[in-house]
Amino acid sequence: MSDLAYRRILLKLSGEALMGDEDYGIDPKVISRLAHEVIGAQQAGAEVALVIGGGNIFRGAGLAAAGMDRVTGDHMGMLATIINALAMQDALEKLGASCRVLSAIRINQVCEDYIRRRAVRHLEKGRIVICAAGTGNPFFTTDSGAALRAIEIGADLLLKATKVDGVYDRDPKKHPDATRFDSLSYDDVLSRDLQVMDTAAFALCRDASLPIRIFDMSQPGQLHRILRGEAIGTLVSS
Ligand code: UDP
Repeated sequence: MSDLAYRRILLKLSGEALMGDEDYGIDPKVISRLAHEVIGAQQAGAEVALVIGGGNIFRGAGLAAAGMDRVTGDHMGMLATIINALAMQDALEKLGASCRVLSAIRINQVCEDYIRRRAVRHLEKGRIVICAAGTGNPFFTTDSGAALRAIEIGADLLLKATKVDGVYDRDPKKHPDATRFDSLSYDDVLSRDLQVMDTAAFALCRDASLPIRIFDMSQPGQLHRILRGEAIGTLVSS
């Protein structure tokens, strides 16, 4: 019997988390370290699904600001998330884990299609599942993809890894006296206008009462400690 506080989790990593100190792309050392953390969580007994962003390669909004058609830009952004998912799959497999990439856009010479029952089956068999291509639709983000998939697969917790160790009342980089919240309700986040996730993603989590924990994954071991029930970062729940 596992003594973990959570049975099934979905971890959202931004594309930027894979860059390390680079300006673009993927740092193999960084992705290997992240893979190690994910495997630690899985070996502790949790079922682990991942959603990875694409901002280290392309974001539709950025491409549109530079003159590109927004939908085309978003398609490029979603393809970027598939690139990141494949890189993570490779890093996980190099470390001996079993992993499947399931894409919301059909690209099945490269990876499987996202089918909810298949995702759940892979998790039950002890495989790490990476849900790629966000929601499969333009004008969304991978935060929305993460919220959607977490609810669909029945995750107990959505973990959002950021560069900051939780949610603050003000930007802690600009305001050294900013205060970090240990926990917040969904209504607190809205009334204080705090930036936890984009609006569509947040609305999905709130409507499904899915708890979100925002934490800093650059600190080794944090993911495992959260699974054991330690209050790391900020928890947003009902
Ligand atoms: N994207 C999209 N629909 C989705 C998810 C992502 O069109 O459901 C596109 C969008 O252009 C987005 C890009 O993929 O900017 C990369 O995702 P995101 O910006 O969420 O990545 P992150 O900031 O987490 O690295």
